[in-house]
Amino acid sequence: MDREINGKIQLKVPEIKYTKLFINGRFLDSVSGKTFETNDPRTGDVIAAVAEGDKEDVDNAVKAAREAFDHGKWPRTSGHERGRILMKLADLIEQHAEDLSMLDAINAGKLLHMTQAFDIPTAAFMLRYFAGWADKVHGQTLKCSGEFQAYTLLEPVGVVGLIIPWNFPTVLFVAKIAPALAAGCSVVVKPAEQTPLSALYCAQLAKQAGVPDGVLNVVTGFGPTAGAAVASHMDVDAVSFTGSTEIGKVVMAAAASSNLKQVSLELGGKSPLVIFADADLDMAVQLAWQAVFFNKAIITHASVLLKAEVFSWRLESNGIDINGSLPSSQGEICLAGSRVYVQEEIYEEFKKKTVEMVKNWVLGDPFDPQVHQGPQVDKRQFEKVLRYIEAGKREGATLINGGKPVGEKGYFIEPTIFADVKEDMLIAKDEIFGPVMSIMKFKTIEEAIEKANNTRYGLAAGIVTKDLNIANMVSRSIRAGTIWINCYMATEADAPFGGYKMSGFGKDSGLQAIQKYLNVKSVITPLYGSPW
Ligand code: ADP
Repeated sequence: MDREINGKIQLKVPEIKYTKLFINGRFLDSVSGKTFETNDPRTGDVIAAVAEGDKEDVDNAVKAAREAFDHGKWPRTSGHERGRILMKLADLIEQHAEDLSMLDAINAGKLLHMTQAFDIPTAAFMLRYFAGWADKVHGQTLKCSGEFQAYTLLEPVGVVGLIIPWNFPTVLFVAKIAPALAAGCSVVVKPAEQTPLSALYCAQLAKQAGVPDGVLNVVTGFGPTAGAAVASHMDVDAVSFTGSTEIGKVVMAAAASSNLKQVSLELGGKSPLVIFADADLDMAVQLAWQAVFFNKAIITHASVLLKAEVFSWRLESNGIDINGSLPSSQGEICLAGSRVYVQEEIYEEFKKKTVEMVKNWVLGDPFDPQVHQGPQVDKRQFEKVLRYIEAGKREGATLINGGKPVGEKGYFIEPTIFADVKEDMLIAKDEIFGPVMSIMKFKTIEEAIEKANNTRYGLAAGIVTKDLNIANMVSRSIRAGTIWINCYMATEADAPFGGYKMSGFGKDSGLQAIQKYLNVKSVITPLYGSPW
């Protein structure tokens, strides 16, 4: 474990080009003239002052979006043309991958090689995926009784508010705008206050790609002000939110008490990874690690992307083996399989091997290719994770690795593993959003299912077994939006992604994501002239 983190930080900061609100195709100061500081989580230092948008700025952005939707060409142009422009944006994102991956690394503390290998390629991939749908979603001709015919039209819902968190700044910005823009909507995006930089950068690329002014607006600022103004705006037709369950409820209440705008929520998770005794133990140990730290699993997801020339050279020139294990992250992912249930026959062996794995783990500067884990995103998250670690110790879980902050500055925490965790402990119930794994024991399949479902969340789950019957039975019995069998975190643009229970509703990938931004209109006409 690297204990001299702060001495090794490369204090190279990329040039920050865009720090103002992006409204109606122009970068503007906020109406109040206020700005807020955005930080480098490696050191806690300020990297830029960014325009602090508030209600009036959101009003201006919504006005521009409304005008673009009601009178502009975006919703009226062909799906093919919208798709062409989104494809162009994907190309531009690839061309600017160096800057964008740096911005996400420096603003969110993400590993640079992770943003290069996963985040930016995924953003381009998502854009192309939804660009492909733009001219392929259509209504149906309906079989009617009697002397009428009917058909359905799919029409863009209108102005969409998109509120996003900080853990995947570029990916989530793109994953939110792509289906909405493909559908013909115009959007107002409120990025997380921790990570506003890449959204502003992408906004200007969108303009370059040909997205008309007013169709894509970005209002940087804080949640209770700018975010709340989006959620409660009378002229916003739909809001799509990714973030905590707590704020998801606030957004839904604001939508209901304003204009009943459509809502979709991608919220927190506390996903189980269930490892059966027949599993390949080494693979199970790897998967458990990936489930919390999101490392090698990305190879499955990004295998296509990584082979793309434009990205593979970056990895190879940095000494990263694209077929081997990629760098990791710091557990800041809603999909984290942070409850690891292990069948009793292999429990002790599993613990031993998991602790062995962590021995080679390197914590440090996310710009260093040898590093596996960077800092938490900010002081608030850092302190929150440490509070949960203390709660785990206090409630009697056995700490078998880590548990401490590292370094004088910045927000680094050791990879932390608790064993003998009980169902009613805080670390088994709450989403920690940090490098903390909780290991628990089970005896039977029934007990595993019951425990896996013993959560208010339902975002995802993993099953590790060689037995097809167990895999089938358990995957149907766990109430979660995604089930991974013998893999984890393998997300695909084509596979709908979203939660059950208090992990929210509405899907963010796949055909369902674009359908969310389309209203269905029935058109009915008499077949043989009006009967009246
Ligand atoms: P986290 O706890 O991971 O930071 P949050 O749910 O607090 O997640 O934040 C996710 C997004 O929601 C951010 O863009 C944040 O600014 C925004 N947000 C926070 N509070 C509100 C609110 N009251 N209304 C609308 N958006 C909000």
